[in-house]
Amino acid sequence: MNKMTSPSLLERLENGPVICAEGYLFEMERRGYLQAGAYVPEVVLENPHAVTELHREFMNAGSDVIEAFTYYAHRDKLKLVGREGDLEEMNRTALKLAKEVAQEGDALFAGNICNTNVFLPNDADSKKAARAMFEEQVGWAMEAGVDFIIAETISFFEEALLALEVIRSAGAISVVTLAVHREGLRDDFTVPEACQRLKDAGADVVGMNCIRGPNTMLTVMEEVSKEVEGPLAALPVPYRTTDKEVNFQALTDPGCDCIPDRAFPTALDALTCNRYEIAEFAKKALALGINYQGVCCGAGPHHIRAMAEALGKTPPASRYSADMSKHYALGDDARLVKENMEFAEKL
Ligand SMILES: [Zn+2]
Repeated sequence: MNKMTSPSLLERLENGPVICAEGYLFEMERRGYLQAGAYVPEVVLENPHAVTELHREFMNAGSDVIEAFTYYAHRDKLKLVGREGDLEEMNRTALKLAKEVAQEGDALFAGNICNTNVFLPNDADSKKAARAMFEEQVGWAMEAGVDFIIAETISFFEEALLALEVIRSAGAISVVTLAVHREGLRDDFTVPEACQRLKDAGADVVGMNCIRGPNTMLTVMEEVSKEVEGPLAALPVPYRTTDKEVNFQALTDPGCDCIPDRAFPTALDALTCNRYEIAEFAKKALALGINYQGVCCGAGPHHIRAMAEALGKTPPASRYSADMSKHYALGDDARLVKENMEFAEKL
């Protein structure tokens, strides 16, 4: 695809919904390529083929954006696992892998920065450190030729603003999504207020990602949509969060007594949304005018395909969307064996 003729993120958002598959850390951990806990994307250097494959799976399922897997490939995390020396190579490799797959189709190629885990609101040194972390990662992303940069999963408004400033001074289009925990943002801003301020500061797309499941993200984004002009973003985790357990860190699994109270992060399986729940989310979010959608930690290609189809798209993977008419017992195709169809009652 000639990038000169391929529409930009903002042009695409004007014409309809754009999907961005996220959640690479969780999926790679599930597949056995990185460690829960520190959650560093070491897979980028050790098993790059696995990253390429997941990018392809998400694109095949309808992701319009291939996001470089640089989430937590930042200085603080690499220091934590004793790999600071691999920082630049990990970022540049992740960017290269994403760009290659994006160019195989018509997807946008996005850079990524995220919560630094060093930022503290009243600590100038911590802010300086966070800025330096953003600057180096944004610098590598710009050199790789990204179409835009995502600043995601940030739970301090001020940290998000700092990330935005760095992206804007590099001259890139920005998507800024906030991580909203049980009690809201970690500084004294409401989510609509934070989104509005980010918009005022020049963010191209604002909203929420991660932490909350479809239902408990929508209640907050509904408020945002009333107060803030789009484009807006919503990328929930595909877990059944509730009014009592609004975020996936708080979820418990009453059906399992072999784990401690908290199902996060490695025992969430039974609490996963099915594809139909994600499709419902996509339609409700679209009705609120939310045009930048996706799924975060826990996302599988089937979720992305369901979201794409709910938003009126037909990704390549739709070729294999369920057609139960041909199921040996539950189907109604004329070629099926009658006795098996009668057996359906006993299934
Ligand atoms: Zn996430």
